[in-house]
Amino acid sequence: MRRMVLACMAIGSLATGVVSTQGQATTDIYFIDTDGGQSVLIVSPSKGILGTKETLLLDAGNLNPPGRDAERIVAAMKDAAVEWIDQMVVSHYHGDHVGGVAALADKVPIRRVLDPGAFVPEQNGNREAGYLSYVPIRQNAHVVVAKPGMKIPVAGLEVHVVSSAGDLITAPVPGVRRSANPLCANPQRKTQDPTPNNFESVGVVVEYGRFRYLDLADLTWNQEIELVCPANLLGTFSVYRTTRHGTEWSGAQALVHSARPRVAVMNNNPTKGGVPGTFQVVKSSPGLEDFWQLHFSDNVSKEVNSPEQFIANFTAGDAGHHIKLSARSDGSFTVTNGRNGFAKEYPAQPPVVTSSR
Ligand SMILES: [Zn+2]
Repeated sequence: MRRMVLACMAIGSLATGVVSTQGQATTDIYFIDTDGGQSVLIVSPSKGILGTKETLLLDAGNLNPPGRDAERIVAAMKDAAVEWIDQMVVSHYHGDHVGGVAALADKVPIRRVLDPGAFVPEQNGNREAGYLSYVPIRQNAHVVVAKPGMKIPVAGLEVHVVSSAGDLITAPVPGVRRSANPLCANPQRKTQDPTPNNFESVGVVVEYGRFRYLDLADLTWNQEIELVCPANLLGTFSVYRTTRHGTEWSGAQALVHSARPRVAVMNNNPTKGGVPGTFQVVKSSPGLEDFWQLHFSDNVSKEVNSPEQFIANFTAGDAGHHIKLSARSDGSFTVTNGRNGFAKEYPAQPPVVTSSR
């Protein structure tokens, strides 16, 4: 009977040309504004063994100002009606990613932590403060060192680790077919970034049915190329979060154009990230529909920035607005600007027939 009702609904939708997304389960992704740091809260579409929706948090923002970013994460958790973090990924040990973990652990339970393992000492001692704040948390937490190829268990989702501690996957993400990548004929490489710890970033692919999200934290430019050349081991994506805040250190064209995201989301601030090269690469990516920004970028003109409705925060009056994405298993998703409620629907697309996923 239920099957029959669903069949009737499908015919009704076809007849009217209206695709209803009401009542469909979603996985919700909050791109939390940490003013140029990183924190992405992912809420599972279904309940886990504890009878609640499960949470995956990718980084916890900055150490300073004290507690600010943890409060913003808790606000997003309240919006999602979740009370603890099931899986916390500490992508690497720079303060704009790990700095907020201790303050967050004061506010909400964190059940399991994944990180890249050993800390690589910094030439610049000031960059160690974030890691040092995390050490006492790490000593008492359930910590798992992430390895490429590992899966992170989250109810209803497939979450794959593709990079950690300088190592990258060498086989395609399950379901992705290995094939030669035509974008690799002559990929532009860069002098390897000498800064430790970005190189160690834990990168993940998150899948919910046909919806796919790519987040490589602050992985470096040449490593990005290794993931897609000579064969694209990652596949193509619904959404790509600009690597390393949209700075010139990451976001290689070979990676972005191989990933073919419909939507890119940038975790920049007014002066960090959002550089001309990032806009050029993202906007010219085949199949890109929109480029959402957590902040207006002062590094380029107003005309190069995305239209206002796709920007969550402006230089004056930064109130920490997030960008919320709700994805459905058919690959469709909705993105909402936390500043003004502007929402855009991205309908499901028929599968693209290409040489790789
Ligand atoms: Zn960073």
